[in-house]
Amino acid sequence: MTYTSTLIGYPYIGEDREWKKALEAFWRHELSEVDFQVKIKNIRLSRIEKQLQLGIDMVTVGDFTYYDRMLDTAVMFGLVPKRFNWQGGKVDLHTYYSIARGNKTAVASEMTKWFNTNYHYIVPEFEEQTLQITENKVLADFLEAKEAYGIIAKPTLIGPYTFCKLTKGYNKVTQVEYLLAILPLYAQVLKELVNAGANWIQLEEPSLVTTLDETEIKLVQEIYAQLAGAVPEAKIMLQTYFEALTSYEAIMALPVQGFGLDFVHGYKGNMESLRQFGFPKDKVLAIGVVNGRDIWRSNLAEVNSTIQAIETLSNAVALWIQPSSNLQHVPITTSLENKLDPVLKNALSFADEKIVEIVEVTKFRRDKDGSTIHNLSESMKAIEALKNHPIRQNQVIHQAVQTVTIQDFERHSDFSHRQKIQQQALGLPLFPTTTIGSFPQSDEVKRNRNAWRKKQLSNEAYEAFIELETKRWIDIQEELDIDVLVHGEFERTDMVEYFGEKLTGFAFTEKAWVVSYGSRCVKPPIIYGDVAWAAPITVKESAYAQSLTKRFVKGMLTGPVTILNWSFVRDDLSRKDVAYQIALALRKEVEALENAGISIVQVDEPALREGLPLRKEDWGAYLDWAVNAFKLATSSVKNETQIHTHMCYCEFNDFIEPISALDADVISIETSRSHGELISSLQVNPYKKGIGLGVYDIHSPRVPGEEEILGIMRDSLQVLESNQFWVNPDCGLKTRKETETIAALANMVEATKSLRQEVKQSITR
Ligand code: GLN
Ligand code: ZN
Repeated sequence: MTYTSTLIGYPYIGEDREWKKALEAFWRHELSEVDFQVKIKNIRLSRIEKQLQLGIDMVTVGDFTYYDRMLDTAVMFGLVPKRFNWQGGKVDLHTYYSIARGNKTAVASEMTKWFNTNYHYIVPEFEEQTLQITENKVLADFLEAKEAYGIIAKPTLIGPYTFCKLTKGYNKVTQVEYLLAILPLYAQVLKELVNAGANWIQLEEPSLVTTLDETEIKLVQEIYAQLAGAVPEAKIMLQTYFEALTSYEAIMALPVQGFGLDFVHGYKGNMESLRQFGFPKDKVLAIGVVNGRDIWRSNLAEVNSTIQAIETLSNAVALWIQPSSNLQHVPITTSLENKLDPVLKNALSFADEKIVEIVEVTKFRRDKDGSTIHNLSESMKAIEALKNHPIRQNQVIHQAVQTVTIQDFERHSDFSHRQKIQQQALGLPLFPTTTIGSFPQSDEVKRNRNAWRKKQLSNEAYEAFIELETKRWIDIQEELDIDVLVHGEFERTDMVEYFGEKLTGFAFTEKAWVVSYGSRCVKPPIIYGDVAWAAPITVKESAYAQSLTKRFVKGMLTGPVTILNWSFVRDDLSRKDVAYQIALALRKEVEALENAGISIVQVDEPALREGLPLRKEDWGAYLDWAVNAFKLATSSVKNETQIHTHMCYCEFNDFIEPISALDADVISIETSRSHGELISSLQVNPYKKGIGLGVYDIHSPRVPGEEEILGIMRDSLQVLESNQFWVNPDCGLKTRKETETIAALANMVEATKSLRQEVKQSITR
């Protein structure tokens, strides 16, 4: 048996986000194209150097990008939407970034979540363009690595099935045309790589782990038969990740030389398939055995036994040992973290540490002389130490989660009863107007916060400033005549971090960035201990705001599922149990707000939908506990207290039922970009509770006119009852400018008043 250590891919953002900084400087015209290219090349090469230093046997190239790898692939084949007026030839950087980010005359291509990750890719658009190879960038990367380090790297590409599957713009007829055009181009790219001396080529096909029907399997077979026919000399590693294969036998019959399987997220399914069907003789098996998606150190003794088991079942000629997915989903290295609890830090493994794990276990399999055994048990000790950490021994919380009962999820009365009581208690007008929570964070707000963080501003002075800003915006909202007010969230930077900092069990890193989309990076908190409520989190700000006005001010919390989904989460408890811990903590906060005289509490769950598992058949199990976690957080209040929630970035068509199951009195949702679709799905699946359909898009500085908003509201009223309809923008207004915010909200309120008039007239008529 031969063993090779390798990676599916490695992060490209740089230890100190050098990549992000270079891109943004280039966009701001602070870097010339030449200087930008020099910087980018350095980053690209230093990643390879790092992998070589850490001892990876087979380095991967083509996993680097200037923005997004789906976009790279589209551009490589000349799939440039016509609105960007590209004239053929090499796609210049200006055009490339226009597709990603839009320009003065053309809107950007759509962006969507990459499978079940928090990464978002650019959706390729097929407009029946003539396809052509504009530039073989993977080849360039391959040659660059060969020249710089004398290595034969493994080039990687998004595979043809996944790429085509994720492209939009074709129908059943044009799909054939599309495939016929694109496959020869794929073949040519492969051929050029082989001619340049490439040995193995990795084609990434994550779409193969979704549930495939018969026509889809046929398509996969045809695609690979064509490719193999066109370039029989190419050695293809067909790489899958994020789940087990659903059509194992059919995939194993494809004419390629190797298969990559995920033995972390797809452990059960792939093991079962190996046991049942074995592995094709004479082919290479690449096994993802170290989690490429989480930040925890692997138990190397366990990894070693997994490999052993796979060896026995597969009889493969050679094994590649690798992380379960591209490492772009994890931060780069723990070595930059100087403030973490040492027990936690020692149990962490980011990209570089994962490489060390892979290299170590590969060596151990290879040598088998016992010399490395010590290192394998080292990891176990680190995991054990974290397990015994006092932060994980909160018996009160453990007990509370274990004893949650069905009653704890339910409000005192059902919605229809509560609705009447709330109407009386709150006395809101028809079509109440409100906003989603945050108001513009001006430069002044940011300046004050930074000064306070650097201790140049005292707590008192900072809090006084926040109060002043809150008061200013309460006045603005009254002036605008909005019905339900918010305090504005000036004290918060990030909606998860703010709560994490005030609950127990969270850790915050200094440099653990991961890419979210384009150059945008996020630094998720780490939930490593038991989560508990220690003291009121938001009560002071909400109560202060409420004291300034006779109108109702909404309390504003981030929901348990969103806190969970936007964090790195401990892996010794189920996600459900961690969600319930957070929910129980938030339940106390909701009660504290109620006790402080807040009558409306909004609990945001923008990330509820993105936690959905890859396969539809697994949705139910997730939704069961996710919905219950929300209800656990919100259900202890009086009937009079109105619970709101908010969601965004969401396709609602298949999601109305779970939304309704949350049993929130009012939900506000982002819809202005997909308004028509939502209306038609509400026609099919009526929604009965309070609902605020975003009446304008807050992602653009454009101020919507009164008539335009009125039009959207009239449409909505065709599928909604008057007494359930709320009026609000799409999402929080944090990133907008003050003047455009006020202008847009003024139009929103005016439009609402006209609508009330219209409805009144139609009733009296
Ligand atoms: N209340 C939050 C805000 O207004 C909601 C943010 C979100 O939906 N992502 O900023
Ligand atoms: Zn939102």
